[in-house]
Amino acid sequence: MLACLKCLTLWVFSEADLAVDDRGLHFICAHCGGHNKLINIGSPKGPMELIQPDITPTDTNRPFTWPEPNSFG
Ligand SMILES: [Zn+2]
Repeated sequence: MLACLKCLTLWVFSEADLAVDDRGLHFICAHCGGHNKLINIGSPKGPMELIQPDITPTDTNRPFTWPEPNSFG
């Protein structure tokens, strides 16, 4: 799960609006428009493994393997 740090809405990864800009990888909360930082801890050539660095890791925050090739560098 991802959590919007602004409005605390929880999102499953498949519903999160992932994007990358000059602030890096993030998702935009579809509820409040909040910007929430993500980090890709996967290998550069492998699938992305995304974590949300600003919340306490839990079982529901383990790395998520994105099914697409790593397209965010
Ligand atoms: Zn939000």
